[in-house]
Amino acid sequence: MSKNKDKTTFNPLECTQSYLSEALGRLDVEPMHEMLLKTPYREVTVELPLRKSDGSLCVFQGYRVQHNQARGPFKGGLRLHKGMDLGLGKALAEIMTWKTALAGLPFGGAKGGINCNARELSKLELEQLIKKFTRRMNGIFGYDRDIPAPDVGCGASEMAWIYDAHSQYYGHQPDVVTGKPIHLGGTEGRVEATGFGIAKVTQWMAERRGIDLEKSTVAIQGFGNVGRSAASYLEQAGATVIAVSDSSGGVYSENGLDIDSLIRKTFENKKKQIISDIKGDCEHISNAELLSCNADILIPAALDCAINEDNASTVKANLVVEGANIPVTCEAEKILGDNGVAIIPDILANAGGVICSYFEWVQNREGRMWSRERVMSEIESALSAAFNNVAETVEKEDIPYRLAAYVIAVDRVAKAQQSRGFL
Ligand code: NAD
Repeated sequence: MSKNKDKTTFNPLECTQSYLSEALGRLDVEPMHEMLLKTPYREVTVELPLRKSDGSLCVFQGYRVQHNQARGPFKGGLRLHKGMDLGLGKALAEIMTWKTALAGLPFGGAKGGINCNARELSKLELEQLIKKFTRRMNGIFGYDRDIPAPDVGCGASEMAWIYDAHSQYYGHQPDVVTGKPIHLGGTEGRVEATGFGIAKVTQWMAERRGIDLEKSTVAIQGFGNVGRSAASYLEQAGATVIAVSDSSGGVYSENGLDIDSLIRKTFENKKKQIISDIKGDCEHISNAELLSCNADILIPAALDCAINEDNASTVKANLVVEGANIPVTCEAEKILGDNGVAIIPDILANAGGVICSYFEWVQNREGRMWSRERVMSEIESALSAAFNNVAETVEKEDIPYRLAAYVIAVDRVAKAQQSRGFL
């Protein structure tokens, strides 16, 4: 994935641009507007020097790519990962534009992050780094301009620090950032929203295809925010989760893993374990073995390029649900398609997170908190509308789910952009 040999040949932007071009080929968009849809509105790179507690000096790079704001303020996560760079930022920002449009949210798309490994920094160092990044982004972030959220390596604490640093300039504006702690204006449901959405689209897809989810097995790569909650909700829906992994490796049990116990051991316990340290009634497997295991449904929920031209033909599942962003390369998509594997694309499958973020923003703007029941029900109805739109287009046009999702999303953004003029 992002750090192995495939990364050197994988160009995420080339991948997203090829999906965009295919969708544009089915739409009637003016050439100037096509060009605007293909290129980011703004790319920002900042230098982030950090004095560490041992006295040494590190210099990191911070990024924010704003792709399109035709439908509303830029919206997208921040990634704290060594593999973060401008190229990946451009591809991920573009995806956010289509994701928010497909979900019918009044937002555009952006993405950013810092090329650091958060786990190598102390809490104090990380706070300094995030606050410096926010100060460098002064004038870029804003509740009606660009609203960050958590992504890989990032969570509620980082969002609280952004809120704090931003408020030094602009006063109390909780709606500048989503994914905040609940006691600071965050919303119920945000942590589990993406996994909840993944489980829902998997259930709806199973229903459409006449698949009995209670007889289905699932493998999930990545046991972070997204993978953990997807595993938990799918287990509740009756599926048997037979394999999960993190960057250290995976565990497998043909009768099903105990997801609650794995979550407690890797996440909730003070002594957090990595998956390769887990002991118990399960077999240890590699990430490559997880991708090719005998599960009916495969959910790559870690990083980009997990399923690529080298390993796509080993996938045995007949449904891939993209929990991560761009986990399947375009070359792999062709191989999976030829082998009869259906893919629910990232811009639909993992949209539950940004939908929930939108409701957090709405609550902050209203100055009122909603109940958890209301938040989850609003996420489900927004996601179900997007899923039904895509599924109907798939049937009507006889095209794959990704292309159908892109056609709907790109059409919405192009219409908004053409109406506004942008001259
Ligand atoms: P996270 O940092 O919470 O978890 C990432 C997980 O992936 C960890 O378990 C990590 O160990 C694992 N991982 C990293 N490298 C790996 C490798 N080489 N092989 C196997 N596992 C590996 O991140 P997250 O928030 O769960 O995000 C995961 C993916 O989902 C990303 O692509 C992100 O862009 C996407 N996503 C996240 C959200 C969200 O709400 N957090 C929303 C939409 C999409």
